[in-house]
Amino acid sequence: MTLETRTDDGWATTRFVVVGFGTAGYACADSLIQAGAEHLVVLDDRDNEALREKAVILETLGATITLGPGSTAELPKDVDVVVTSPGVPPHAPLLAQAAEREVPIWSEIELAWRLRDPANPAPWLCITGTNGKTTTVQMLTAMLQAAGLRTVAAGNVGLPLLEAVMDPEPYDVIAVELSSYQLHYTHSMSAHSAAVLNIAPDHVDWHGSLDAYAKDKGRIFENCQIACVYNVADPATEQLVMDADVIEGCRAIGFTLGTPGLSMLGIVDDLLVDRAFVEQRATSALELAMISDVTPAAPHNIANALAAAALARAFGVPATAIRDGLRGFRPDKHRIAHVAEVAGVNYVDDSKATNPHAAQASLLAYEHVVWIAGGQAKGATFDELVIAARRRLRAVVLMGQDKQVIAEALERHAPDVPRIVVEATDTGAMQIVVGEAAKLAQVGDTVLLAPGCASWDMFANYGARGDAFTEAVRALGN
Ligand code: ADP
Repeated sequence: MTLETRTDDGWATTRFVVVGFGTAGYACADSLIQAGAEHLVVLDDRDNEALREKAVILETLGATITLGPGSTAELPKDVDVVVTSPGVPPHAPLLAQAAEREVPIWSEIELAWRLRDPANPAPWLCITGTNGKTTTVQMLTAMLQAAGLRTVAAGNVGLPLLEAVMDPEPYDVIAVELSSYQLHYTHSMSAHSAAVLNIAPDHVDWHGSLDAYAKDKGRIFENCQIACVYNVADPATEQLVMDADVIEGCRAIGFTLGTPGLSMLGIVDDLLVDRAFVEQRATSALELAMISDVTPAAPHNIANALAAAALARAFGVPATAIRDGLRGFRPDKHRIAHVAEVAGVNYVDDSKATNPHAAQASLLAYEHVVWIAGGQAKGATFDELVIAARRRLRAVVLMGQDKQVIAEALERHAPDVPRIVVEATDTGAMQIVVGEAAKLAQVGDTVLLAPGCASWDMFANYGARGDAFTEAVRALGN
């Protein structure tokens, strides 16, 4: 029985169990049916109208769907392959039983890899990291498009990867964003080229430890064909390249905000340059773009641009398309978005900074900052951030469930920085927060919403938090 490509004969006879019936689980089940699977069971502990509607569609196509509490308690006896969804942790009973019984467990990425069209498989350029994945994948897509290639951003962003590989009109190349959850159960993927942007503590509950989290991110480099891209400033990412089993001839390529060494992309004066994919790299570098072509030109975002450029260059994209792609690119909402200037003070929405590593990167992009922070810290600590950013902090306004965690780090390392704690958590809270920040800011300062925390204690999501900030700033302006 082989299941290596979609035309293999094994799909009809293999007994599949899909765990989770959310977006990913549905896409997996649907694609398995398209591939000819005849023995398919889908399990989810949730049960509601929307899920039942989706279940009816798949049941008419021959799948068995079991919903409701207890559905995933027991792995069925007759199963050859389990396909799991990113929300399900490895210690969930069903996955633990599968591991115990040595039943292979696949992520949707593993399934997508196997379901590529063997006649015309689009190469994958893959990106992971703790922060900057979405932005970098979108920059890469813009560069590939500027080179005239048919491409799409897929995976953890944009189109589900399964849809991209099943598209009857083939892509030239796919820009893939991968999370550590998805990589954990990905085994046979062989990216054309891949990048790990950075590694900082996040999602440690799911993976069990920071080391396990980093190792899962490193799986992106396994079987890599042309280039493994790492961050020179983050040695953990280079270590992952060294630990990986790659296809012979695959190169390690660094990106740096400094002058690039051999086989790196980096910065010289105000230019992004390539010293990796040019013939004369021993003695020269190729100009790709100007720093001012990157929006916003914050240091971490220039790093993202270099990582995207490294993957694009590995794929043979010319320098002019790197530049044109960057010029036309704007990040998604709530990622260092300039909201307004009010009374000589700039207001910036980086609500997407949901962990300290991200918040630190955006704080370091400004000289004098009134920092708005707080929410759900997910067990993270803020000491490193405060030490790195303290000389830039004009003042801090804290809100949300774990404001105390941040207040304590400030007390330890920056006791002289004025801080205001806002207790309100209702819909008017953000207006109070912004009002306090405005009082503390001086002309030329930046008021930066970079909470370093998740938003769910006070808002529906990070988008709603950013919208509340924008609205409060507009009200201030009026
Ligand atoms: P992800 O998809 O990994 O969550 P995004 O591109 O959506 O990444 O960016 C999320 C947040 O992470 C941004 O709002 C910014 O605060 C921060 N960020 C972006 N790029 C980087 C980077 N290279 N290093 C550190 N933080 C970053």
